[in-house]
Amino acid sequence: MNSAADGERSVVEETARFAACGVNGVPGVMHALGARGTLCGTAARYITVYLMLFEPAYLASCRRCRRLVEEAVGEG
Ligand SMILES: [Zn+2]
Repeated sequence: MNSAADGERSVVEETARFAACGVNGVPGVMHALGARGTLCGTAARYITVYLMLFEPAYLASCRRCRRLVEEAVGEG
């Protein structure tokens, strides 16, 4: 018997974990969720939170959020 699920585990420990979110009316751009909204400053009332983690490497990720996440992680 072959159990493909064994050992399948994603490693996300090396980056700070932020929930992903998007600004309402602006589809296709992923932002990182901060305390009051997106890390780049959009208020929480204007965003939709996604059930996934923000991916700094994702091409559609907001550049300001990406930079802020990298700073939070302590890169560079
Ligand atoms: Zn952003």
